[in-house]
Amino acid sequence: MIPNNYHELNYSKIATYTFCPFLYKLKYIEGKREGLVPVTSLGVSIHRTLEEYHTNSNEPENLLVYYNRCFLGAGYSSAAEQMEYYLKGKRIIEDYAKREQYRKSEILGCEKEFQFEYQGWKFRGKIDRFEKLPDGTYHVIDYKTDAKLNENFDVTKSMQLALYSIGAKRAWGKTQGKASIYFVALNKIFSIPFEEVNEDFILEKYIEIGNKLEGDEFLPCTKSCAQCLMRMRCQHSIHRERYIRF
Ligand code: SF4
Repeated sequence: MIPNNYHELNYSKIATYTFCPFLYKLKYIEGKREGLVPVTSLGVSIHRTLEEYHTNSNEPENLLVYYNRCFLGAGYSSAAEQMEYYLKGKRIIEDYAKREQYRKSEILGCEKEFQFEYQGWKFRGKIDRFEKLPDGTYHVIDYKTDAKLNENFDVTKSMQLALYSIGAKRAWGKTQGKASIYFVALNKIFSIPFEEVNEDFILEKYIEIGNKLEGDEFLPCTKSCAQCLMRMRCQHSIHRERYIRF
């Protein structure tokens, strides 16, 4: 068992609890790790590559060097599978490098952390990319490496972007700007302006879940099992097949 600081909330905790309260218990109270599978391993490789690249270079011709350095070999069942995913990632990085030639924004930070307090709760977050746009406004970006878009995706309902917008305002004093999810494999970006986020409403939603955590409400949500990375090990799982591929 690990100590669980309920009074500190972040998007990952809320997303995990919303997906399945029992998964929250496994991860945040029992300390179980989901482990890597090809999709998540490649996601880590691409996130690391972009962080290293934007922190140290910003020269598009160097991107592949960073990719080769950051590519993670873990999570694959064979050398052939590892190569298949390495090549998928390489294509994503090569396309990203082409788009980099036209980027006008100034990168201010990667994996940049914020924290602020609200009604006795501490809120934290880590933003993949924080930048200043040519018009002087600010832009917080979360990268996603999904190969296809969920048909139900709606950026205006993103609890993650809403929290990042609030974090940029409250922790860094950046009141003008937008928050975006950038699907790097698809070259699609979805944004919401900071001013469209109803701060009190969003923070109350987070706290509502925080209160459930304090109430030790950890019932399994078996309708999520098919997508759950713990499904091979969880005693409540109703799906025990191998993971869905990318
Ligand atoms: S396998 Fe199902 S019940 Fe178990 S943690 Fe995952 S989603 Fe929840």
